[in-house]
Amino acid sequence: MKKFKLGIIGLGTVGSGVVECLQKNGSLFTSRYGFDYEIAKVAVRNLNSKRLVEVDQSLMTTDPQEVVDHAEVDIVLELMGGEEPARTLVLQALNNGKVVVTANKALIAEYGPEIFAAAEENNTRIFFEASVAGGIPIIKALHEGLSSNGIDSIHGILNGTCNFILSCMENGESFADALAEAQRLGYAEADPTLDVGGGDAGHKAAILASLAYGQWFTKETVSVKGIDKLELTDVEFARDAGYRIKLIANILKTVDNKVSIDVQPTLVPQQSMIGSVMDAYNGIKIHGNTVGDTFFYGQGAGKDATSSAVVTDIIDASQAIASETISNYPGFKPFDGADGAADLSSVVSRFYLRVVVEDSPKVLSSITGILGDHNVSIASITQKESHEKAVPVVILTHEVLTKELEEAIKAISELPVVKSQPHTFRLED
Ligand code: NAP
Repeated sequence: MKKFKLGIIGLGTVGSGVVECLQKNGSLFTSRYGFDYEIAKVAVRNLNSKRLVEVDQSLMTTDPQEVVDHAEVDIVLELMGGEEPARTLVLQALNNGKVVVTANKALIAEYGPEIFAAAEENNTRIFFEASVAGGIPIIKALHEGLSSNGIDSIHGILNGTCNFILSCMENGESFADALAEAQRLGYAEADPTLDVGGGDAGHKAAILASLAYGQWFTKETVSVKGIDKLELTDVEFARDAGYRIKLIANILKTVDNKVSIDVQPTLVPQQSMIGSVMDAYNGIKIHGNTVGDTFFYGQGAGKDATSSAVVTDIIDASQAIASETISNYPGFKPFDGADGAADLSSVVSRFYLRVVVEDSPKVLSSITGILGDHNVSIASITQKESHEKAVPVVILTHEVLTKELEEAIKAISELPVVKSQPHTFRLED
């Protein structure tokens, strides 16, 4: 029986889950695949921290270099997170001929081409299923299950923390209270900026677009808007109109063979599949040009979901090493899937627009006049009765060129009767 030696950098949430899964399912893996796993070295920051799993103290170190340079380690698990020193350690492990498994989306999104090139040069591979959508095997779906398709679009919820916050807001909680609850339950980091600012979903969208279209999309090609400017009143207006607000990553092949990639709060119908994805779950719809629509749903983060993806990568890596086919494993190989990133201002969509205005005559006509001047056609307009001096007006548009809506908003925000920067979110039927 082949025994694989694992070197682990990071024994936090994901690292502990991986060790737990290997302990729980070790005999299953042996009987199913004929492999056995042994942990050869584990690097952490603090040797005295309390751990969720038991690991032989003699295997622990605070020096991750000992893991990447360990002569007997076959597979290095990079589960520490962040960009540096993770990038340097992963490159060193690949240069040492190790196979690497990572859950680190920031690392792959920012340094993918450099890391894949290092793997190629050293006839090895990096596996990164856990970097997008936790336990949902979405990277495998793009590499394997949907390989017969050209990908028309990928559309979905890629950040469970934001979806949890939005679900709480549906129940009447403010953004601040919902975020505090997400932090209490361990969904959101102490510094939640990457989650609520949309950066985390942006990294994941860039990775999925790169895999789907065979060229590396940098973060500069992804337009990102988070949920941090969202107010309870937006959620309530959306609900009254039959929608829910979700943070949606939208990757779309345009008619001129380019790819538009954005992440933004989006109104989706309450009854739609994506509108039914609640709490910390992820949901992703991929439209292939042969299969049509497919939908993937599951836990997008957390110890168990993420370690499920990491351990699946370990098994795939083991099979490829054992059959001496590791250099055939897809990783990332460029192909001619599209002609680069689209100019997002040319995307056509419906929009939700909320403007807080002075409650006085002719205000509505000045706003609708500007929208008309920019070819923005209005589907509905709502102003609730209020005893305040400033009132929110909500407009749902028909389909409009993003560029024209942006120009209209700039003009509207300069009106003296407009009391704060207008909010716009995409709207999907
Ligand atoms: P975490 O709980 O903060 O654990 C990080 C681990 O890395 C800790 O054990 C820490 O050691 C260790 N570490 C950090 N810097 C180190 C250094 N310089 N040298 C040695 N060890 C170091 O993080 P996590 O939630 O498990 O996330 C790990 C990775 O998985 C990240 O890339 C994250 O984006 C990704 N991911 C996480 C989730 C999730 O739900 N948590 C989901 C998907 C992907 P100490 O314990 O001693 O501090």
